[in-house]
Amino acid sequence: MLDTPNSSPAIKGMYIGGNWVPAARTFDDLNPSDNTLYARIPDGSVDCARKAIAAAKAAFPAWAALRFHERARLLLKAADVWEARKDDFIAAAMHEGGGWYGKGVFEAGYVAEVFRSSAALCYQNIGEVLPSEHGKFSTATRWPLGVVSVISPWNMPGILTARGFTAALAMGNTIVLKPSEDTPYAGGLFFAEILEEAGFPPGVFNVITCSRDSVAAVGDELVESRDVKAVSFTGSTAVGRHIAAKCGAHLKKACVELGGKDSLIILEDADLEHAAKAANFGSFMHQGQVCMSTEKILVQQDIYDVFMAKFLARAAKLRTGHTNDKDNVIGPLVNNRQAKRVQALIEDAVAKGAHIELGGKCWDNFVEPTVLTNVDASMNIWNEETFGPVAIVVPFRTEQEAIALNNDTEYGLTAAIMTADEARALRMAEHLETGMVHINCQNINDEPHVPFGGVKASGVGRYGGRWSIDAFTELRWITLDRGGRHFPPAF
Ligand code: NAD
Repeated sequence: MLDTPNSSPAIKGMYIGGNWVPAARTFDDLNPSDNTLYARIPDGSVDCARKAIAAAKAAFPAWAALRFHERARLLLKAADVWEARKDDFIAAAMHEGGGWYGKGVFEAGYVAEVFRSSAALCYQNIGEVLPSEHGKFSTATRWPLGVVSVISPWNMPGILTARGFTAALAMGNTIVLKPSEDTPYAGGLFFAEILEEAGFPPGVFNVITCSRDSVAAVGDELVESRDVKAVSFTGSTAVGRHIAAKCGAHLKKACVELGGKDSLIILEDADLEHAAKAANFGSFMHQGQVCMSTEKILVQQDIYDVFMAKFLARAAKLRTGHTNDKDNVIGPLVNNRQAKRVQALIEDAVAKGAHIELGGKCWDNFVEPTVLTNVDASMNIWNEETFGPVAIVVPFRTEQEAIALNNDTEYGLTAAIMTADEARALRMAEHLETGMVHINCQNINDEPHVPFGGVKASGVGRYGGRWSIDAFTELRWITLDRGGRHFPPAF
């Protein structure tokens, strides 16, 4: 059993303009392992969102004017405060988010690096000097946008929230964050505690929380308010489409990172021990609730049986249960709605002829690691993002067939290829319709400084490194004439 504190955090309110502010109502935030009450969270209203936007707008001029190294220093301080409190985050990720202890440790370590890599962005090139026909001093320079709304999901509440706002802050924008109603503490109010302790000026970073019932109205305000200049969204494709459409109508910038239906391709010359281990991690890490989870394992016919024996033997060892026990690598799904949805996908597939090779049991919010074969396009699980601990294994004969199977989805987040032939994999990678391709690894990969993002229905825009600078700044062409521009004599 566990030494990570299981107690509920003291919820001080929402964080607006440097103050902790209550809402008229609260909603219950449950521990998905046993549905006990984790915390009572302020159920913020549209009016609360307006106040947070106003606070961020008021803080913007001074924050944007602050010297870049001062912003960097504050982000580095936030990284240190985060590290000092990492056990509190790990506890929240387990008891609020339903994550395995090891996932919490990984996430806590990664978030500190997200803060630090964003601090490094403050020192990056923010402009270019262009040639001019008239001998002008001609520059393309980057400027902060203003208030950025950040809407984050529950599955990696630390990493995906941090990724959503730290680069925007580094560039001189101010933030209103709305975390998921499933992780309002780990993905929201906890960050407010960190940035308050790090000494960020009031109003630069604001957090409002709200229930699923309030999110449509609050979300619309966060996107449509005239004072919000851009939206940073990570979540489902359905909600992302809605937000991107509204941003389009209001001509605002949007960076939207959405769902996936990712394939791992295993070619006949792959190291099958490594492939089985990688497939097990890619499919079942955090119960398959990662946008980059390996949802389809495509296996070349000749090695199918050998691979399956190795893969099933490994997956069978994963234990499912309450996250209080560190040996339960597979925790609950985040809520009962998600658990029922995944169960329905398994039932639909089995009713239409899929075989259960492993698992298949569902109880409370838990779904055992499940492996399905004989799956085809008539089944919902072929097309829909499962976002649960269910892997589909599909045999193929040729490279072309594997590429076609990989591309047979509306999504395009990541693809992965296992082979001893690097040149063959690089050749195949050119034809895979995804924003990211990993060779001799599984699908789940991210680093703070790389261009992370998808194509097709997996999103628009990139997070990470200098690509975040593009997302959270606007370009201005500024020229300085030194007498080189001549006008027609008629003028
Ligand atoms: P979700 O879309 O239901 O919720 C995401 C966020 O949007 C939450 O904060 C939610 O409260 C908010 N939201 C919901 N309705 C809204 C509305 N009408 N207006 C404004 N905001 C609204 O997604 P989720 O269930 O939290 O997360 C799981 C999904 O996120 C999966 O599809 C997963 O693939 C995707 N995801 C993508 C990435 C990526 O980087 N591509 C990373 C993680 C998760």
